[in-house]
Amino acid sequence: MNAPAQQDPSLQITQAAPGVWGLRLPLPFQLNHINVWLLADRMADGRDAWTLIDTGVASNLTRGLWEQVAAAFLGSAPVRRVIVTHFHPDHIGLADWLCRRFDAPLAMTRTEWLLARMLCLDNSDEIAEAGRRFYGAMGLEAPVLTALTARGNAYARGVPVVPATFDRLCDGDRLRIGDRDWTLLTAGGHSPEHACLYSTDGQPVLIAGDMVLPRISPNVSVWPAEPFADPLAEFLGGLRRLRALPADTTVLPSHGPVFQDLHGRIDELLRHHDDRLAEAERDCAQGGRTVAEITQAMFPRTLDTHQMSFAAGEALAHLNHLVATGRLQRHQRGDDGAWLFTRP
Ligand SMILES: [Zn+2]
Repeated sequence: MNAPAQQDPSLQITQAAPGVWGLRLPLPFQLNHINVWLLADRMADGRDAWTLIDTGVASNLTRGLWEQVAAAFLGSAPVRRVIVTHFHPDHIGLADWLCRRFDAPLAMTRTEWLLARMLCLDNSDEIAEAGRRFYGAMGLEAPVLTALTARGNAYARGVPVVPATFDRLCDGDRLRIGDRDWTLLTAGGHSPEHACLYSTDGQPVLIAGDMVLPRISPNVSVWPAEPFADPLAEFLGGLRRLRALPADTTVLPSHGPVFQDLHGRIDELLRHHDDRLAEAERDCAQGGRTVAEITQAMFPRTLDTHQMSFAAGEALAHLNHLVATGRLQRHQRGDDGAWLFTRP
């Protein structure tokens, strides 16, 4: 496909690799943007088409930007499919609208689709009760605990609709998109079955989603539905798997600039988690610590409620990993039932 003709200067679209364009969309968070990808593709009958990867949040602003992209960039070529890397609201928020707008199917891994679909529909008492139990065991101060548990199902507010049908993507799938072959690689930890796409046609390219980011460490959290999970083990395993890709792979991340040093960045992230594990282990050796205390030590700044849910979940991910690997033990504190982590 030829490079698209006219571009509206307010649209931030840049070519990231042959046949792959990045579109930067705003986010209403401290993390203020997401990169989504527009891949030159072909329909089965040979007509030029597009594959879109990730969608942005569900908002009128994002819908308006997509309309501009359609008018100024996609032209008359149809959208063949909308691929979503994982269930987080900035990636899947507009999937339903985009699939309807372009009459295109949604493609994603099964676990990510199931979780998105369940969470956007789940306003049950059980989910609220699980949240109260989970945050109640962290040893948080009362106002923080109240704010966290009063949020209810924040996911459903961010993702009002998830399409009721999808095309399943599996680890190892080969996808022909335009002139390139891509291999689907899944990894857990940041989300349960996150999809990355890797292509070696010409210069190797990795569409990394949130698995490897150049400037921030991807969040790895434990959530109320699975309080004893060890997502950090999955995340570190996923990073080691991606590190086996060639050193000269161009990385297209969901946040931040395209970058080249895949191995160096993965090594930094692995070191970062090793350091955090060692610090948490050391702190807990001083007579036992709660999740709240380790959160405070790991994130020593003022956190709003949204940030606190991620910070506490990430602190617990490190503590659970230390328990799973035999470096710490978990007890229940007598007076308030909070989890206490100590040296074995
Ligand atoms: Zn994410």
